[in-house]
Amino acid sequence: MHPATAMASESCSLMWFRKGLRIHDNPALQHAANASTKCFPLFVIDPHYMEPDPTAFSPGSTRAGLNRIRFLLETLVDLDSSLNNLGSRLLVLRGDPSQVLIRCLKEWSISKLCFEYDTEPYYQALDAKVKNYASVAGIETFTPVSHTLFDPADIIHKNGGTPPLTYQSFLKLAGIPSWASSPLSTSLSSLPPIGNLGSLQVSAVPTLEELGYVDCSEDERTSFRGGESEALRRLRESIANKEWVAYFEKPKGNPSAFLRPATTVLSPYLKFGCLSSRYFYQCVQEVLRSVKRHTSPPVSLLGQLLWRDFFYTVAFGTPSFDRMRGNRICKQIPWKESDELLAAWRDSRTGFPWIDAIMVQLRKWGWMHHLARHSVACFLTRGDLFIHWEKGRDVFERLLIDSDWAINNGNWMWLSCSSFFYQCCFHFSLFFHPPKLQLLCCQYHRIYSPITFGKKYDPDGNYIRHFLPVLKDMPKEYIYEPWTAPLSIQRKAKCIIGIDYPKPVVSHDSASKECRQRLGEAYELNKKLGGMVRDEELNELKRRVEEQDKSMEYKTKRQKQTLIG
Ligand code: FAD
Repeated sequence: MHPATAMASESCSLMWFRKGLRIHDNPALQHAANASTKCFPLFVIDPHYMEPDPTAFSPGSTRAGLNRIRFLLETLVDLDSSLNNLGSRLLVLRGDPSQVLIRCLKEWSISKLCFEYDTEPYYQALDAKVKNYASVAGIETFTPVSHTLFDPADIIHKNGGTPPLTYQSFLKLAGIPSWASSPLSTSLSSLPPIGNLGSLQVSAVPTLEELGYVDCSEDERTSFRGGESEALRRLRESIANKEWVAYFEKPKGNPSAFLRPATTVLSPYLKFGCLSSRYFYQCVQEVLRSVKRHTSPPVSLLGQLLWRDFFYTVAFGTPSFDRMRGNRICKQIPWKESDELLAAWRDSRTGFPWIDAIMVQLRKWGWMHHLARHSVACFLTRGDLFIHWEKGRDVFERLLIDSDWAINNGNWMWLSCSSFFYQCCFHFSLFFHPPKLQLLCCQYHRIYSPITFGKKYDPDGNYIRHFLPVLKDMPKEYIYEPWTAPLSIQRKAKCIIGIDYPKPVVSHDSASKECRQRLGEAYELNKKLGGMVRDEELNELKRRVEEQDKSMEYKTKRQKQTLIG
């Protein structure tokens, strides 16, 4: 046969993997496989995301910590192996994703381009470029929504063009997913073969060393392994305990449980799409159908998945969602600037063992329980240090293995009381008993104590001892407040406060009081101006706050001098 005739009868599809790194419930992959004679499964390594940046504050690239990069590589190896079982393999190329992709479309004579729709601004911009090229070149594109349970655009459309801002209104609009009762496609029997690769230098999935990482510390290595196989194993393990699924009630979990975490730890798998949230939903739904009683959203396991969709929807419909300025759902607050305090928080040096242990867990594991995240986010922002939520968000964004643009920003706004105030009322009302506390809880007055909150769950301080071995011999009476231990006890525990472990960076009582006052003033200003706070007004408030700070410092100094005198 003449080569030109052969080419004409060939239909080549390109499956562009970004998230959605799985075989099960992957409509883009399914479409790429159907009615194509050749299929090219591609992953593009963006050096910005993957290659080492020695100037970053922790090992990793400019954008991601090493744990998440390792997790992604493990995921790609697993995906490659699954593709092998289907008679194909994962093609890996390096470079700027849009340029690489356009080269592939040309070089491989692609007629069908398939990839999962992504609502993140980074992908929206990237995909617009690629789709533009494809449209001009006459290439069919297929971009299904399969990362979330619902299509965020549909929900926004149903709500008249803006996203619902409360969980309850989101639930009402969303209803039951259309696919909830029909079986999802969870397997593929084979894939069309890969076509001629032309001049493109395709490689296998690189190792960390091949990406340029040397000396990867084992001590800072997360124990969670990436990949679809591990995701499905974890899912099966979680849902095997029907009673646990049926009575799952989020606020009741123990944030200090580290040997066996109190929740599923499926978030990193959902983040990369190693696990389909729809498949997760169906599996849980099946368990719930088989039991007599079970919890419901927002506290149930399905409720957690719905929180995820809620944040995706609000994030998609809110310009500047990841910033305070220009973000219409975010309160304008004159946060303090202190690189010193921020670094103490980030590097586990606040002197509050509960906070520091959580930050060690973040660095080492890349994952912490939801309430542990609450504790450190509250401490950094409205609770104690009054530092901008965007700064804390950046640290989480880098170090979490489940770092997710919509969920991370949404939760940081929530925890800093910058947004989602009304669900805050509702959600927290389920957190705390008796019901009389409910009204108080919905105010920014409800601050997590860095001393007593963890103690409720773990009075012996085993979590602290595990993540902060320097305190391992501190008696339990002092483990949450080691600076109160007499020197003889500190000596016996081989941990002198101020030398082996830092003194607290603030006094919690006075710092939290000040934070409340500042937030109160900021709320007043936002209310007075109907949320339209301009730079001048915010700066003026910031100036007043700084003056108050200075006069407080002066007073404290005078008091000390009088005492000494
Ligand atoms: P489970 O309780 O087993 O829940 C199952 C799934 O539901 C999770 O995997 C997750 O996808 C979803 N989910 C659970 N809680 C929430 C929530 N509050 N909001 C949205 N979805 C939720 N989660 C992330 O996935 N990525 C982030 O970057 C992230 N940043 C956070 C930052 C802060 C300051 C806070 C307070 C929370 C953040 N969360 C984030 C939400 C939550 O803490 C994690 O999703 C959860 O702890 C993951 O553990 P899990 O998989 O065991 O959750």
